[in-house]
Amino acid sequence: MNRAKLKELYFSKSALATYEQCPLRFRRRYLDGLYWGRDWGMEQEERTVIEQGILFHDLANRYYRQGKMLVDKELLTDQMVEWLESLINYRPYLEGGTFLPEQEFRINQAGLRILAKFDLLYITPEGKAIIYEWKTSPKPTKQLYRRKAIQTKVYRYVLCKAGGSYSPTGCWKPEDIQMIYWNPRFKKEQVISYTEEQFKDDQELLISKIKQIEETKEFIATSDQEICARCEYSPVCHGEPAIELEVEEEDLDLDFDWESIDQFQF
Ligand code: SF4
Repeated sequence: MNRAKLKELYFSKSALATYEQCPLRFRRRYLDGLYWGRDWGMEQEERTVIEQGILFHDLANRYYRQGKMLVDKELLTDQMVEWLESLINYRPYLEGGTFLPEQEFRINQAGLRILAKFDLLYITPEGKAIIYEWKTSPKPTKQLYRRKAIQTKVYRYVLCKAGGSYSPTGCWKPEDIQMIYWNPRFKKEQVISYTEEQFKDDQELLISKIKQIEETKEFIATSDQEICARCEYSPVCHGEPAIELEVEEEDLDLDFDWESIDQFQF
């Protein structure tokens, strides 16, 4: 195991969530660098769900980067065209605000290294910040789950702490920040606000989680067979592929490295 990597690792919401599920999975993915595509052994139908998610994110990124959709719709499926039209209807590119798609922020302060990459950061003309997160899972997710999700905590905290240069005042107050989850399949937004108290709680939680990971001596395997059943390392740990076939939201929620993903050709 490459323990030195722990000293350099910027903790993303996926890294923190992975450790929570199974420390051994965290070690394999982030310290051993054992890359194992999550879609390995998946049926074509599930693979398609993942590909649709990646394509939608890519197209949304292009739209907010260019301010218009330049892709020939003839090259897209009817479903993808419908998703894109819904997105543009829901959050049109408007002059007046600032659109920052695929915006990444990092914190490296007093041993706390965290990163967050937003699908879209929108600075409103009134000087407020909205973090948009596109979800394409076929399963709806409850608002309460969103509120408690590590992604919500990491994203709001990182923006508040590290994104001040995008604020008209030079720093964000928690109440200036909102996070919105939106899924083109359901077209219903889930809006989550932020408070000073939540900011302090998040800070405490993130510091203690990262400390716990850094002090881990042995990255032990989970005993939860349901987690193993959905894990890409199941062939390594148990000699057989993951058996869960249905794509869950987390499968679509990887920390995509947009620079390393081939762009779709149109
Ligand atoms: S298969 Fe199970 S024990 Fe092995 S890394 Fe995955 S979750 Fe952990």
